Amino acid sequence: MRKLEDTYRHKGLRKKLIDTIREKGISEENVLDAIMNIPRHFFLDTALDNIAYEDKAFPIAEGQTISQPYTVAYQTQLLQVHQYEKILEIGTGSAYQSCVLAELGAQVFTIERQKKLYEHTKNFGYIKKYNSIKYFYGDGFEGLPTYAPFDKILITAAAPVVPPILLAQLKPGGMMVLPLDAGDKQRMLRITKNEDGSFNEEAFTNFSFVPMLKGKN
Ligand code: SAH
Repeated sequence: MRKLEDTYRHKGLRKKLIDTIREKGISEENVLDAIMNIPRHFFLDTALDNIAYEDKAFPIAEGQTISQPYTVAYQTQLLQVHQYEKILEIGTGSAYQSCVLAELGAQVFTIERQKKLYEHTKNFGYIKKYNSIKYFYGDGFEGLPTYAPFDKILITAAAPVVPPILLAQLKPGGMMVLPLDAGDKQRMLRITKNEDGSFNEEAFTNFSFVPMLKGKN
């Protein structure tokens, strides 16, 4: 098995990455600390070890990607995560984003639609230290009715529409952050569910995500 080592060099590169995303506008110290605490190179192929701390998305198994650190930080900051919150994440991928949420003290429920990727990630030894993350194989459009409602919902793939079932699984006062498809780019949205059940919508910058697809694979 591959030996995971977090050297001074890796930590130094991670510090530089923090400086980069801070300059790009991430200001929440708890979000920056979470990224500093997670050895991102563990989530990538050893061949990418030297570039793991560049602020870029990289390929992982099954043709999917680990999001760019700035994007992870941006979505996490918008979600305003507090300790013990129940968070539903759509698109487990490498589980890097799930670990960022767990670092912030959240209870994470994450869904992946690709069986092989789900198995691969669930068996990745390093993330077992985060026992506040639960992994599910399924279609994120359906959410997790058994565990609903959630304080927060985070979609990490480009959603073609705002999934109505997910809005229903949000607690009153809760928030959902998602990249909503608009052609080749996606507009980041934050939707807040008011106590009376109505919704507020705020739109932010454009990003580029892999598509959120229906059904399982
Ligand atoms: N959060 C991930 C980023 C993953 S990329 C990370 O930190 O690495 C988006 C992921 O969403 C892909 O793994 C893709 O397979 C998954 N996905 C796409 N549509 C989905 C759906 N309907 N339900 C669950 N996962 C989905």
